[in-house]
Amino acid sequence: MTTGPTPEATAAPTSAVPLLFHNGLLIDGRGGEPVRDGAVLVEDGLVRWAGPGAERPELPAGTREIDVRGDAILPGFIDCHVHMAAPGGALDHAELSAMPRSLRTFLSAPRMRQTLFAGVTTVRDLGGADAGHKKAVDDGLLVGPRLQVAIAMLSPTGGHGDFRAGTDDGVTDPTMSRLADGVDDCRRAVRDLLRKGADCIKVAATGGVWSPTDQPDDDGFLEDEIRTITEIAAGHRGKRVAAHAQGRGGILNAVRGGVASVEHGYEIDDEAIDLMLERGTFLVPTLTTANTDPDPLKAASWAYAKKKHWQTVARRHIPHAIERGVRVAMGTDCGIAAHGTNLRELAHLVESGMTPMGAILAGTSEAAELLGLAHEIGTLEPGKRADLVIARGNPLTDIASLGKPENVLLVAKDGVPYKDTDGLAA
Ligand SMILES: [Zn+2]
Repeated sequence: MTTGPTPEATAAPTSAVPLLFHNGLLIDGRGGEPVRDGAVLVEDGLVRWAGPGAERPELPAGTREIDVRGDAILPGFIDCHVHMAAPGGALDHAELSAMPRSLRTFLSAPRMRQTLFAGVTTVRDLGGADAGHKKAVDDGLLVGPRLQVAIAMLSPTGGHGDFRAGTDDGVTDPTMSRLADGVDDCRRAVRDLLRKGADCIKVAATGGVWSPTDQPDDDGFLEDEIRTITEIAAGHRGKRVAAHAQGRGGILNAVRGGVASVEHGYEIDDEAIDLMLERGTFLVPTLTTANTDPDPLKAASWAYAKKKHWQTVARRHIPHAIERGVRVAMGTDCGIAAHGTNLRELAHLVESGMTPMGAILAGTSEAAELLGLAHEIGTLEPGKRADLVIARGNPLTDIASLGKPENVLLVAKDGVPYKDTDGLAA
């Protein structure tokens, strides 16, 4: 039924016949009541129809009917914050820098597959994956989620993207980050990333856990630098900027500078919340990573200490932002957290005060809005790309079940089933 990737594939696989997924609990990503005995008709890689099985239209000739046995039918999930080039677990930049670039790229291939098989059909990679990763998936050479790539994080000297020890006067490894200081240098740096095919831009608005010489509440880029970057990105077909921002001062600089999303946002306060509500800025709280305890044997002692402290900061501040109704999009920081368990984030969002439906929307239609892809993905509606997930049981009564990849029974992207544990579409 499908053509798998070939060694030098130049087109993504396609599904030859229309598919009707029926007898499912349909959660279409629009936030309404789930539909029992729901169905989705897929043709030419697109959703043709979705709704109650009793109302289904006449099926195109040759449609394959797939009984999903009462399990949930959901839109493919969207993870707005991953790093396919990072291993998942303690980030050892020395180890990463010592690795040939080609090996780093090869290692990202199984991670991409694992991510897709966890139910994630689109990711935004915020540092480490370049335009080649994206093209390899688009062309069917690799199996993975659709990608938006930031290529490398922009950071000021000594900021979150500066992984040099304080004694090192050499240059930074350009794979994960690029340094720039001042408005002029930021202009040059962002234009260079756009030249190389960046779909979005990542800026360091504060320090972070895994950078050796700063703290998460140190300022990164200042407001004028961030504004310069967001303006240039916006002038390139509306490209958007994500800000790594953990301490409150940097969160404010980022929001005032016009970013589309605050990543992490651990020390978000009412002043930032007010501004984000006014501007429609998204929060991507990356709770999977915040809640993963670093391995004290693998993490540097300074990173371990920062991580433990900022975990408690996040647990104090994120639920308040959620309660106040800041727009939330799902992002995990997988690459720091383990790859392939992305949908654990949904349960963390619920623990922080979201409803299960709210968490599902954060991982589907809201995430699609943040990525500027709401016209293509994020809901199961006619005309959208047929990215869908069949998951065991009812995630509205057991949201944590989605976080276990074994409960994700089938994953289709552009109408093509890639994972099909029970051979439903075989
Ligand atoms: Zn990250």
